[in-house]
Amino acid sequence: MRAKRLALLSLGVALLVLLLKALAYGLTGSLALLSDALESTINVLAAGLAYLALRVALRPPDQNHPYGHTKAEYFSAVAEGAFILGAALLIAKEALPRLLDPKPLEGLSPGLGVNLLATGMNALLAWHLIRQGQALRSPALVADGQHILADVLSSLGVAAGVGLAGLTGFWILDPLLALLMAGQILYLGLRLVRRSVGGLMDEALPPEELRAIEEALKDLPPGVLEIHDLKARQAGQRAFLEFHLVVPGGMRVEEAHALCDRLERRLKEARPGLEVVIHVEPEAERQGEG
Ligand code: ZN
Ligand code: ZN
Repeated sequence: MRAKRLALLSLGVALLVLLLKALAYGLTGSLALLSDALESTINVLAAGLAYLALRVALRPPDQNHPYGHTKAEYFSAVAEGAFILGAALLIAKEALPRLLDPKPLEGLSPGLGVNLLATGMNALLAWHLIRQGQALRSPALVADGQHILADVLSSLGVAAGVGLAGLTGFWILDPLLALLMAGQILYLGLRLVRRSVGGLMDEALPPEELRAIEEALKDLPPGVLEIHDLKARQAGQRAFLEFHLVVPGGMRVEEAHALCDRLERRLKEARPGLEVVIHVEPEAERQGEG
């Protein structure tokens, strides 16, 4: 199980990186390094929550949950979002007073050394995940690697800024950088919460998926007079689609059923994981336009 080994490796490295970054903060008292450490904490927490949620989400539908468990993912995302908001507020609470009254930092050389060591480990992990992801054709692994790579870049920016503050004595840079990081963390958190709340509220499918569905329903098989009242919603990795299918009133049930099966197959090819429910109606129910 290469995927499982990679997940364990990622978690192990993430924990080590987190400890080193917390140590770097302890050595220097730098708020910018604190936000860097908090960002790593968020990553570890997110990975843990996502793993737990996925275990629930992948369970097949059962008697208590006939539509499946895919929405479990949104709960972990909401919890993660709440944690992220808390982290951003904590940074802001520490950094705002320091902005007015900047303090010189101590232990910058060892602190930055430890921080850069952690960033170096993260960079290696990112590189490894992206390469393995490409080899295994796993977009999720590549995305994980790219996420860590983006963290590496922002960490390098933070370390450079803190180093610059040490060299120039321009200590206000530290709370400024911390607030910048808090802003970035906040933005990520809000986006996450927004997406999860959308999912819990049965938000419509993203436009590209709706287009694929429309495309699949473009050339309707003979016998179909009209399609109306089309509705779709998403639930994690699954999506549900329903619509009314108008056929001649004298059509045999067998024929109408074959038509439905054909459309269902087409739609599932256009959007894997789609659940389709079709309500068949005679032509008296026609609503026009089609
Ligand atoms: Zn209808
Ligand atoms: Zn059937």
